[in-house]
Amino acid sequence: MMAMAAAHMGYGVTVLDPDPDGPAAQVADDCIASPYEDRDAARALARRSDVVTYEFENVDAGAIEAAEELAPMRPSSAVLRVAQDRTQEKRTLSAAGFPVAPYRPVSTRDELAAAITEVGLPAILKTARMGYDGKGQRQLRTDGEAREALDSFGGSRQLVLEQFVSFERELSVICARDAMGNISTFPCVENIHEGGILDVTIAPARVPEETASAAADLARAIADHLGVVGLLAVEMFLAPGGRLLVNELAPRPHNSGHFTIEACGTSQFEQIVRILCNLPLGETAMHRPAAMVNLLGGVWPGSGAQPDFAGALALPGVSLHLYGKSEVRAGRKMGHMTALAQDPETALEVALRARDIASRTGG
Ligand code: AMP
Repeated sequence: MMAMAAAHMGYGVTVLDPDPDGPAAQVADDCIASPYEDRDAARALARRSDVVTYEFENVDAGAIEAAEELAPMRPSSAVLRVAQDRTQEKRTLSAAGFPVAPYRPVSTRDELAAAITEVGLPAILKTARMGYDGKGQRQLRTDGEAREALDSFGGSRQLVLEQFVSFERELSVICARDAMGNISTFPCVENIHEGGILDVTIAPARVPEETASAAADLARAIADHLGVVGLLAVEMFLAPGGRLLVNELAPRPHNSGHFTIEACGTSQFEQIVRILCNLPLGETAMHRPAAMVNLLGGVWPGSGAQPDFAGALALPGVSLHLYGKSEVRAGRKMGHMTALAQDPETALEVALRARDIASRTGG
């Protein structure tokens, strides 16, 4: 989607992707098909580019550094290093006074036992690195579950134990910061996760104005503190009493910002292209409330049949995005749909109905 935004503004894009037929490669001008750890490939990408970015934080930071020696990297490898390690991320945030849930780094049985005493149960044990979409995390309710979870993660991995937050809502704000330090935020949205994977985004979030503006201020302050040049998605928990806790940072376009394509003056993808190309930040205000539903592999009826997208698109205000992933797998993000409506509740209702129609009938 970033490559498509770049193309409509007249820019050429080369992607580095292990899969030469991957979604980005299908719409980019060129693809270097190499593993993310291939530093020579990263250097080759940088040599032919005026500017380089990444849209997945589980890439090799060493390769990003290699490319950064040859071309501007936005956001910098230093930002990536913070965001790709949960322990590092939480340490950086709490050292700067940003609110996070109580946590402890853990790698051994004894450390886990001590962490549970300090943080309490229920808690969530997460791998410090390479976790996404609910992968690499287990909820712990008892000491027995804790021991079992540690074994399931295997030996001496770097893990983080986090207090379980009984949140009222999950919110996120995507912040855009350019090379001059100008900052703009997209509207604060509400996210609903299923099994650790984003399921639905409701825009704007159904929270009081003060909460939305506190969330935007928090995202802005974090982007400033880290010196992000690019996008920073800040995922937060709205805890009881109206307290915001930062859960996770993503220095890239974010799934919870896909609604911006239809709903905002500038999409998150155009915004990152503007930042990469030293153009002014675009207007982020929403034209209309929106809801986005992810289309995971489970929506596909199987045996090669397609979901009923014709039925879904017959609903007013619904748009479809499919990513061109060849293999359908149960929890895999295959695409999304966005519904625009006069208020967020109606948008949510229409988006859910659209997905329901799509998954009910094979077309
Ligand atoms: P993460 O990969 O950390 O974003 O976690 C994925 C999802 O798991 C979050 O969006 C929440 O729905 C849930 N989750 C993660 N950490 C916690 C926590 N400490 N307390 C409650 N729910 C959590």
